[in-house]
Order: sequence, then C-alpha cells, then structure tokens
Amino acid sequence: MIPYGKQAISQADIDAVVAVLQSDYLTQGPQVPAFETAVKNYSGAQFGIAVNSATSVLHIACLALGLSEGDWLWTSPNTFVASANCARYCGADVDFVDIDPHTYNLCVEQLEQKLIQAQQQNRLPKIVIPVHFAGQSCDMRRIHQLSQQYGFKIIEDASHAIGGRYLDLPIGGCRYSDITIFSFHPVKIITTAEGGLATTNQPELAEKMQLLRSHGVTREAHLMDQALEGPWYYQQVDLGFNYRMTELQAALGLSQMSRLDEFVAKRHQLAQRYFAELANTDLVLPYQHPDSHSSLHLFPILLPASLNRAEVFNRLREQGLGVNVHYIPVHTQPYYRRLGFNAGDFPQAEAYYQRAISIPLHQGLTYEEQGYVIDCIRSLACVD
Ligand SMILES: *Cc1c(COP(=O)(O)O)cnc(C)c1O
Repeated sequence: MIPYGKQAISQADIDAVVAVLQSDYLTQGPQVPAFETAVKNYSGAQFGIAVNSATSVLHIACLALGLSEGDWLWTSPNTFVASANCARYCGADVDFVDIDPHTYNLCVEQLEQKLIQAQQQNRLPKIVIPVHFAGQSCDMRRIHQLSQQYGFKIIEDASHAIGGRYLDLPIGGCRYSDITIFSFHPVKIITTAEGGLATTNQPELAEKMQLLRSHGVTREAHLMDQALEGPWYYQQVDLGFNYRMTELQAALGLSQMSRLDEFVAKRHQLAQRYFAELANTDLVLPYQHPDSHSSLHLFPILLPASLNRAEVFNRLREQGLGVNVHYIPVHTQPYYRRLGFNAGDFPQAEAYYQRAISIPLHQGLTYEEQGYVIDCIRSLACVD
C-alpha cells in the first residue's frame, strides 16, 4: 500500500530517542522544554506547552480560556472529531459553521451570519476553533476582527499546519488568536508518535495550561496560597490531568523539527506534480489561497458527480493506493446526532464529503510511487 500519509524517521531521530533511554530522565527532563522552545521559536510565539496529544491540548486550552457548562464552542464540521469533543469535556455545547466550498475551511461569511443571529438569541460562542484544513490557514484576519466585535476567544486547530504560513508569518505565532494547537500524530507533518503542543503569547494562559497538564500541581511559590514549607513542598492549586509528554517523544519531536522545512518543501514539490499532471481532468484539485502557504498535510481531490465515490475508493485501494476520506462531517456522527444535529444541517461540508478522496502525499513518497498514483487517478478521471 502507498499510504496517504506517513512519518519519515531518520537515523538521527532513532539516535535521539535511544540517547534518552540511556539517560537519567524518561519523563520531566530537559527534552520537553527543549522541544517546546524549538516549536515556539519556529512559530514566533512566546510560550509553548507540550502535552501527550492534540486532543489533550484542545481540552486544556478550552479550560484555560474558561470554557464551562452553559457556554458554546463553534468549530468546522470538516475536521476530526477532537476539534469538537474538547467542548464536551468541559460540559459546554458545540455548534458548527459550514465550510467555504473552495478552501474547505470554516466560511467567514457563514460565521458572521451565525454570529448576528446568535447575538439576537443571546447565545454567542465563548470560543471559536478554526481548523486549518489540510495545512491551509483559515482567514484568520477576518475571524480575529469578528472576535473583537463579538467577544469570543480563538483557538487555531493547526493539527495539520505546522510548517505552514499565513500572510507570510509562520502558523502558531498567535497573531490572530489566543492559542494555537499542533498535533504530532505519525500521519501529521512531524511526529512524536503521540503528542501535541499549544503556543500562546499570553503568560496567564501558558501558566494555566502548564498546571492543567500536570495534575494542577505546582512547585512555584508565586502560585501557592502560602509560603513553602520546605524544599519538598508542592501544592495542588487546580484540578489537572496527567497529560505530559515523555522525554522520548520530545527527543523525537526535536529531531524532527530540524527537518520540518525540508518536509514541507518536499510536499510542495510533490503537490506541484499533482497540479501539473492532474490539471486537465474533471477532478477538482485543492485550491490554494494566496494568503496561505499550506504545509500540505493532505491532498484531497473531488470526484466529478458522474463517478461513484465508493466504487472509485475501492478500486484505488485494490490498486494499492492507501487513499482515505477527510472528513466525515462531525455533526453527522451518531454522538452528535444524539445532541440534535441532522444530515442537511451543514450542506457545504456534506457535499464536499460526498465527493472527496485524499490521495497519497507525504515526504517519503518516491517519484516512481507518485507516478503510479498519477496513472491510477488519470485512468479513472475523464482526461481532456
Ligand atoms: C489529528 C487531529 C486532531 C487530534 O490530534 P491527536 O494528536 O491525535 O490527538 C485534532 N484536530 C485535527 C484537525 C486533527 O487532524
């Protein structure tokens, strides 16, 4: 199988992990802070908080922003379920904003319409989570303007987007948001096996997320309600979790960071070939907005209505292509239907889903493999 996405592990990555195994610390040593520094410096943010997954970091980001029962969180239906579930962990309600049919990202016009209505009904969201689908940034400048006008907080779900840029700045600098989160699952751009990280420029949010990822326990005197009883002393000042990243994971991540730009450049090189060789077909190729330099996590193509998606999908799998579909609209999942959502609620996301297939794109894809993928795809599309 030629997978749609895959990690690229070098000997240097392996050596970095083995060195940690031979060191004194498997957890809570020097690698995690070094990885945090590398990611925050790359992104241009002031703080970086590493945790054991992007799902965990979404949870503590919501808590740090004060999300709780009675609040609303809005996100895109074209995402992995974790972008919405974080609200439910906090007891808050979820709603969705339909996608733009060109970028497949949360649509800013729909967001504005929905905010106008929500204001009349007195149910404005506390948090909006724009998801940078496939590595392409959402229209953050306008979403940020709306956040000023309607008083909501912003968490950028950049699980797909490390190494990408928006308006010539790296994703993760939080120029137009409160917090940005990344995922390091093996299928994403760089990996720590499992892992996630939040960036922010707000010291209170960084401090809160640092507490919440580690039991709500602190050894810092300024966070305690009394003087230290001795050098052993710690206090639990909040209800936190064990969401820590291990030293093994951080060492892998740090090693991978040194190749991030190379990975993204390779993805662009491969994508250019897809754009060239699949151009004169009746497939819709992923639109690249000029404001964004995508990290190209995914390469979703849209089939023409004349082709049956399930049949095409099965045929490609039989030919050895590990194609996939991103995403089944979150609101159509049984869990969300039980909360009152229905098919038809977000028609653009549903129409996109009906025709989408993600074809292989990752830094380890060889020229020959890609040539074979292109042949398979061209043979099913109507070629001019
Ligand atoms: C992968 C992904 C997540 C969850 O990441 P984990 O690190 O696996 O928890 C969240 N949001 C989006 C958009 C993702 O693609």
